Amino acid sequence: MALALLAVVLFPSISVFWFLERTVANEALAVRQQLVQTHARRLERMAVWVNRSAAFRVPDVSAVQPALSVWREVLAGQLAEAALVYDADAKLVVPDQVSKREYREPPELLRPIWNLEFAKQDYAAALGLYAHVVAERDPYLRMLGLIGEGRCLFKQGKAAEAVQAFRAASDVVSAATVPDGPLTSARELAQLALNARLRVLALTAEAGAPAEPEAQALLPEFTAPARLGALLASDQRLFLAWEVLALVKAHGPFGESVARQVERIAALADAEELSLVIAEDYSRSHRFDRWGDDAWRALGRAAGDFYGRYFRQPERSVLLVRRAAGLRRELERGYARYAGSAFDLCLLDQQGTCVSGTAAPGAAVLVQRPIGGAFNGWHAQLTLRDPAGLEQAIRRNKVLYLRAAVLAVVLILLSGWLAARAMARQMRLNRLKNDFIATMSHELKTPLASMRVLIDTLLEGHYRDRRQAEEYLELVGLENRRLSNLIDNFLTFSRIERGKLRFRFEPADPSEIVRESVDVMRMNLERSGCRLETEVAADLPPVSADPAAMVAVLVNLLDNACKYSFDDKAVWLRAYRRDGAVCFEVKDNGIGLSKRALKRIFDRYYQVDQKLSRGAGGCGLGLSIVKYIVDAHGGRISVESEPGRGSTFVVGLPRR
Ligand code: ADP
Repeated sequence: MALALLAVVLFPSISVFWFLERTVANEALAVRQQLVQTHARRLERMAVWVNRSAAFRVPDVSAVQPALSVWREVLAGQLAEAALVYDADAKLVVPDQVSKREYREPPELLRPIWNLEFAKQDYAAALGLYAHVVAERDPYLRMLGLIGEGRCLFKQGKAAEAVQAFRAASDVVSAATVPDGPLTSARELAQLALNARLRVLALTAEAGAPAEPEAQALLPEFTAPARLGALLASDQRLFLAWEVLALVKAHGPFGESVARQVERIAALADAEELSLVIAEDYSRSHRFDRWGDDAWRALGRAAGDFYGRYFRQPERSVLLVRRAAGLRRELERGYARYAGSAFDLCLLDQQGTCVSGTAAPGAAVLVQRPIGGAFNGWHAQLTLRDPAGLEQAIRRNKVLYLRAAVLAVVLILLSGWLAARAMARQMRLNRLKNDFIATMSHELKTPLASMRVLIDTLLEGHYRDRRQAEEYLELVGLENRRLSNLIDNFLTFSRIERGKLRFRFEPADPSEIVRESVDVMRMNLERSGCRLETEVAADLPPVSADPAAMVAVLVNLLDNACKYSFDDKAVWLRAYRRDGAVCFEVKDNGIGLSKRALKRIFDRYYQVDQKLSRGAGGCGLGLSIVKYIVDAHGGRISVESEPGRGSTFVVGLPRR
């Protein structure tokens, strides 16, 4: 059994340590792998968020709108800082520049008048001639005439009249009425009209008249669709936009709606200028229409460079352009969680250039994941800023595992010890039970055998006289009582074991209990040659007890006192009062009990010396039954004894 127990404890303990050793060995790997997995998933999630960001959505490039509207919308949606719009033949439409073809010589009609106005500075004469030009049917000539009049009037110091003339010039056409005839081009007319309006604004403001309505009328021409500004080429529009911004700045501040318009025009002018630069610098070196997808790509490699994203459609294509810094800012927003963390994040573009963050030199890459979508071919890369931190985490985990293993082993040892104790106890009990069965059989056999011999003797008539026959019969009776006592004890014990022993408590007279016990034992004691002295105190109060059970207690004690005495047997039975309790004392001058035996005599099946006990006729149950009954009565039993000097058992019952 010890071996089995050892195996039960040792095997799991060794397994735990083996497992720990393996786990610790793999720990570094596992921690790293876990880290990689966690952050790979996180990077993938972030890539999805980045692609969901409004800043990187796909623009509407439908061919239904005019190219300029598409261009403006792309910029208004802040999808890019500049944009290039191409037509179905991959020809750049916006931004565009005025071609040489569009420049015209000044009309013949005006040459002599300009001579008068600019060379001779004869404004009165020029004014007279301009009046003829104003009368022309062609809007281009009419506008030139009116503007000339305005100029001359202004130079003559007639500012208010000059404003009238410029206003009339600007009113000659609107975006809706611009004819695009052979003599005029829409662009020229739009440019003249806007110029005239600019002058109206400038003169009004300079004259101290309210200029805000003028500004409010002029500004939408540069932002709203289908207005004069939309007819211009990008470089013309840019030039006029700057002029108008300078004017507003010089004569402001104006109200909030003007301020908003100004802001928008400034943003569009910046974007238009950048778009022109991009068209100039990169359109020739890149064939955007050959780009395989619409992901962001580097347009060049110098510092402050640009990234482009080309959306191809059959009717129209658009190139979005962002400064590297702007793109990085947007991109970093999606990866903001890594800012200030224990990792260095590096966002790599298609060429492997670190656009954001730093690739720590020499540091091993922990995990790299593609960003995908609008950033197809890009990667997010993580390196550990402090690799010692990882080691520390691993060490912390090792200590944790070690503690868990020690705890597990301690628990195994503890449960092993408890199991061993329980098994030992069970085995002792089994041994006692076996002994008990042997004792019982022997106890039953002995009186039966002697009874049979006595009865046979009587039946065969081997007795001297009637006196001897009576003596034999008395012996048979004695054996019979011994047998009954034994079986009574056994049955009582069995009832206790099954929880079936019930007591009927009633007020009982202690002297009655003593008397009945003595009656039961008298014959037995006499036969054994045992002297009995009884002493019952007068006026003992009644006790609450089951009289039959209490008689059984005293009978057991008296029987033991007699059994475990030397040849000169004497037993004293006393009943008296002490500390409010009624005590029954059984004292003998017998073999006594050792200190060790004293501790255990009330245990079931316990016998101090089995040979002696068996010879005396017992099976180790008597005192356990006595204790059970006394306890059930709420009483106490105590023993005083010394080997060779007799024992004293005292049963104390509380008063009723
Ligand atoms: P048994 O039936 O064996 O007498 P008990 O439970 O009555 O069983 O007693 C248990 C043991 O206590 C006995 O075997 C005996 O060794 C010891 N014992 C009991 N009473 C006395 C006594 N009066 N003097 C000495 N030993 C005693």
